[in-house]
Order: sequence, then structure tokens, then C-alpha cells
Amino acid sequence: MINLDTEIIELNRVGKATAKKLERLGVNTAKNLLFYFPFRYEDYSELTPIRELQSGINANIVGRIELIQNKRSSRKKMYITEALISDETESIKVVWFNQPFLIKNLRAGDLVSLAGKVEGDLLGLTMVSPNYEKLGGNMTAVHTQGLVPIYHLTENITQKQIRFLIKSVIEASSFIEDWLPLETKKRQGLINLGEAIKKIHFPKSKDDFAKARKRLAFDELFILQIRSQLLRKELNTSQAEKIEFKEKETKKFVDSLPFKLTNDQRKAAWEILQDINKERPMARLLEGDVGSGKTIVAAIAMLNAALNNKQAVLMVPTEILARQHYETIKKLLGEHIPIALLTRSQFSIFNFQFPNNFQFSNNKISKHHILDNIKNGNVKIIIGTHALLQENVSFNNLALAIIDEQHRFGVAQRAKLAKRTEAFCPHLLSMTATPIPRSLALALYGDLDLSIIKQMPAGRKKIITKIVAEADRAKAYQFIREQIKKGRQAFVICPLIDISDSLGVKSVKQEYEKLAKNIFSDLKIGLLHGKMKSREKEEIMEKFLKNEINILVSTSVVEVGVDVPNAVIMMIEGADRFGLAQLHQFRGRVGREEQQSYCFLFTQLNSRKANLTGLAENDSLNTAKRLDAMTKFNDGFALAREDLKYRGPGEVFGTMQKGFPELKIASLFDYELMKKGKEEAEFILNIDPSLNKWPLLKDKTREKDLNGHLE
Ligand code: ADP
Ligand code: MG
Repeated sequence: MINLDTEIIELNRVGKATAKKLERLGVNTAKNLLFYFPFRYEDYSELTPIRELQSGINANIVGRIELIQNKRSSRKKMYITEALISDETESIKVVWFNQPFLIKNLRAGDLVSLAGKVEGDLLGLTMVSPNYEKLGGNMTAVHTQGLVPIYHLTENITQKQIRFLIKSVIEASSFIEDWLPLETKKRQGLINLGEAIKKIHFPKSKDDFAKARKRLAFDELFILQIRSQLLRKELNTSQAEKIEFKEKETKKFVDSLPFKLTNDQRKAAWEILQDINKERPMARLLEGDVGSGKTIVAAIAMLNAALNNKQAVLMVPTEILARQHYETIKKLLGEHIPIALLTRSQFSIFNFQFPNNFQFSNNKISKHHILDNIKNGNVKIIIGTHALLQENVSFNNLALAIIDEQHRFGVAQRAKLAKRTEAFCPHLLSMTATPIPRSLALALYGDLDLSIIKQMPAGRKKIITKIVAEADRAKAYQFIREQIKKGRQAFVICPLIDISDSLGVKSVKQEYEKLAKNIFSDLKIGLLHGKMKSREKEEIMEKFLKNEINILVSTSVVEVGVDVPNAVIMMIEGADRFGLAQLHQFRGRVGREEQQSYCFLFTQLNSRKANLTGLAENDSLNTAKRLDAMTKFNDGFALAREDLKYRGPGEVFGTMQKGFPELKIASLFDYELMKKGKEEAEFILNIDPSLNKWPLLKDKTREKDLNGHLE
């Protein structure tokens, strides 16, 4: 019998090859399959009599095959399978392209259920390339009736295969242990977890879907709340070291900047400086849209920590960003303050006087020395990635912990950084560009105090965003060339081709070759992707920053935080493959100074085989609208709202949330559910803050933070 731990390879019809493919999707067991949720549904909840079919609609019909045959089109060298299907009301012609094997499965006389698009011409209606399945006996329709689930897949697994597999293990969902307390489910009117899993895959109705989604979205919001409330509770009972406000030095620093701080930056800095001047640890979120200038606010806080002879740490999600912040902070504060950089593979130290008797090995400092000098307190500001969380890093008097792009980390990682020292708890500042207004942020992160930078620095121009048709590609290249002649620079972003190529290396290399050899052979083109060695990445970024590279061809490794003010063009290939949040982040890489900047979106929506990725025609329509929203709106929140508008009612995952891993199913607009999750978390923690009453829930909140999305 199938249970949750049954391995995929033991399932009917799964061979080694398929198992491998599934493994790449993270699916090894029946349980994994059950938690592999569809991202949307195709709605075939109504059966249409053939007589009522109309051109242009998507429909489900059930009928008998009158005849079926293969033809070969002479011109296009293509197989066409033609069938005639009848029900009690009428008949319709059905065609499939290049699937000659169909006539082995489907024969005259079979009862079939078909779902797909109806097209019309002078000769009447035709159903084109519908999904099909045989009915009769005890067979129930899985692929053509009701709300049919659509999954994110690699190119070699079909929707039919995955549905079949999930169907074959679905009964095991009754073994899933429910981690929500019974009273919570009652109070919030939620269905059981096992039931929700069953319904998310095979909803019998829209109501089924709504119930399943509500339960699964609630789980996300509730766990998020429990975790952040526990963290807050812990901070509240901890002692922090006071960081006194050094007014004179701070003012001198601010006056030395090449620009004036915006009022919002000033206010945020002031709020932070007041908080850290207390013995209770700060827990504050600094929210400001892409490019609003959060780094400088963080620098002001770090400066004050260092002036108090204490340590400050800045943790960021990528190596590229760590290096960049290191360079920026060195320039801003490095005059007197020793600063170190620490990631898995890079380390460096600045403005640090080694003692005279210090032994360099090969004239180089080692990671070991840096760790030592962090530990003995010689280094005051430490910048790095999650490598900072490793056991071998110990601090001396860490008083301030800052987390940049905090939505890329899980709560557990935040907590870990905050709890690095025994005696004192550092003040905690999280920074994010997640575009949510105050009321929402309070519901989502109610346990953090909030500073918001709304204002952009003066003089910024709206980035001109255009969807570029394939026919205008040459013009776009010409435009880039002109900008480069003026001394400007450009990014070209390439998407993942398929999930198995998880770092998108294949496509970015191809694009790089094409641009470097054919299109811009006279210019300097750089290549950047996540599989490169740190040193190579650094070199490329450094050259790009110095304008020794004109065009940087990159994967999404430059998505967050990267600051190259001279770059004015962001060109995105396969823009339909990115979520709006990601597109907005990419666009935020340009327009960082006063000059006019541009964002060009390329898409192959129409030329791609729709059902490979489960995209149907109405998806392309919605995707087109989403991309269109990019051209109209420049601020993140407006984009999030637009995104929701074009999200079908049957969509499980929000595309805006790609790149916002804390919420996969819940959306930023699940305001009511957020409030409920928060209230419920308060309620539960009031009864038993240790959670010992609910061991499953306790485990769940401690589950290794799968949400943190790191390099
Ligand atoms: P983000 O909020 O996205 O992290 P950054 O801190 O990287 O933004 O700042 C974006 C750019 O704006 C940087 O090049 C920074 O030097 C510049 N900047 C920051 N504050 C101001 C300001 N008040 N006036 C002009 N430019 C500023
Ligand atoms: Mg930033």
C-alpha cells in the first residue's frame, strides 16, 4: 500500500528516467508529490453540449468517436490527426497536430472527454489540440473535467503524467499529520490538512478550492506570525547594549555625503538611532522601494555602533551584494573604522593595522585572521552573507545586526543572527523593498517596528519601460549602442530555460556568445552567473562598476541590491518567465541617478509551445497584461495590485510573490487572513509560549527554514 514515505520509483509507471526528472523537482516520495501543489487550474467545471459550442471559447465536451484517422499535410510535413466526435446534440471535428500515436489510444466507438479551445471558420467549428481522456467503466476524468490542476514542470514531464502520479498517491494524504491545533481549526473555520491537500490537487468545485487555499494560506501566515512573535518575545526579555547617539560625528558624516538625505531617510535614521540608544533590543523593519536609499541609513546606524566601540554586522543574501556593500561602506566609513568582508569564499579586511610582529603567510591574510579579529573586537563593521551564521564566526561585542533584503531570508536565519552573543542581544534592523503599505506591513510583520522611506531621492526620472516586439530587436540594440557611445552601460538579463538548469547557465552563455560575437563584437561584454567562482564574479562586477564592461549579460544573480549608477538600460529576455516582483527589482538596477533610464522587456509568449509549461492562451493574455502593467506603473505596490487583478480566480500561487518566498500561497492582499493569523498566533502563544502542548506545531515552526532563498 502507498504511504507517505513510499518512494517515487515504486509507483506504477515510474521508471528510473522519470524518477530522476521528478527528483530535480524535489520530489522523492509520495509525500513530496502531495506537497507539489498546482499553481493554477483550467476551469472545465461545466460540460457543454456540442450544439452549444461557440468559436473562441474553451470547453469540455463528452462524446463518442465516430471516426479517427491520421493525415499528412504535404506542405508542412506534419501529421494531423482528425476525429469526428458526437454527443446526443451534434458532432464536431477535432484535430491534433504531430501526435500520430493518438490513433493507437483512441479508436472509433470510444467515449472520450475533451477539453480545449473551439475555433471556427467558414466550414464550421473545430476543436483544436484538446486534452483528451477515455471514459467508461470506472474511469473518472482527471485531465478534462472540473478544475484541472496545472503544475510547474520541467520540459520532459507532462501535465498528464504528473496528474496521474498525484492521483495514484492522493489517498495517502489521509496519513498526513495535521500540525494546526484543533482549537485553531475550529476557531478559524479551517479544514484538515490532509483534506486541504486532496482538494488543492483535485477540487470538485470552486468552493473546494477556496477552502483548500484558505487552509494552506493560513498555515503560511500563521507560522510566519508564530515565528516572528516568538522572536519578538525573546528580544523583549533580552538586554541590549546601548548605542549612544554621536551627534557631532554623525552630522559630519551626513554633511560629507555628495547628496542631501531625503526627509524620509532622515526620519528613518532618527527612529533607528533612538531605538538603539536603549537597553531593550530594537526590532525594526526599514521598508523602502528599490533605489530609495536604504544603505545610507544602515551606514549611519553602523557608524554609531563603531563610534561606541561596538560591532555592527550587515548580512545580505548574495555574494555579489556583500562585495558591493563592502566597497560602499568602505568608501563611506572606512576612513577610520576597520571593516571586514566575510562570505563563504571571499574575505577581506580594510583599514586594519596589523601588529608589527604579525606573520603573513604568503603575504596574504587568511580567513582565520579575519575571524580572530572579529572575535577579539578589532574589526568593528562586518559585512557578509549567511556565512556569518556559521559556528566558527564569533563576535566580540556585537551590538547591531542589520539584514538587507530580509525577505530573502527566513525568520529562523534572522533569529540566528540576532542570537549570536550570549550576554547581550544585538539591536536588529531588517531592510526590505517589499512593496507593502504600513497597514499591511503591520499585519504581516506586526512584531517589528516600522520605518518607511516613501520618497525617492530628488531628481530621479521615471524609468521608461517598453515591451519590445521581436521585429524591433535590432532597433533596441541600436539604441543600446547609442547609449554606450554616450558612456552609459546596460544589463541584459536571461531567464531560466527550464527548472533543471536551475541557475540558468545554459541560456545566459548562449546570449553572451551571441552578443559578444555577432551583435556587439566591437564592445566589451561581460558574463555573470551563479555558477561562477566568487573571484570571477567579483572581477566582473568590479569591471562593470568601473565601466570597463559596457554590457553585462547576467542571470537573476543581480536581481537584488546591485548598484551600478552608470547603467541606464535594463534589457530583460523572456520577461514573461519572471514574476512582477522580480521584474520590478531588475528594473530597480537602473534609474539610480538623475539621467534618464530605460527598461526593455522581451517576450516569446507567442512563439513558445504553450502546453510545455502549462501555459494556456488565457495565461498569455494575462501575462501580456502583467507586462503591460510594468510599462504603466513604476512603484512596487501599484504593481502588486495590478498583478492581483490579472490573477485568475483559480490561481494558487501569486506571480508577484516569486522572489518573495515567505508567502507562496497567501498573497500580500490576504489582509483578513493575515490579521487572523496574527490573532491566532497571539492566542496560541498566550496559552503556551513553549508550544509544548502542540508538538507537531512546535516541530513545524522549527522546521529548517526552507523559505530562505539564498544563492
Ligand atoms: P536601496 O534602497 O534600493 O537599497 P541604495 O541604498 O542602494 O537603494 O541607494 C540607491 C542609490 O541612490 C545609490 O547609488 C545611493 O548612493 C543613492 N542615494 C541614496 N540616497 C540618496 C539621496 N538622498 N540623494 C541622492 N542619491 C541617493
Ligand atoms: Mg539595497
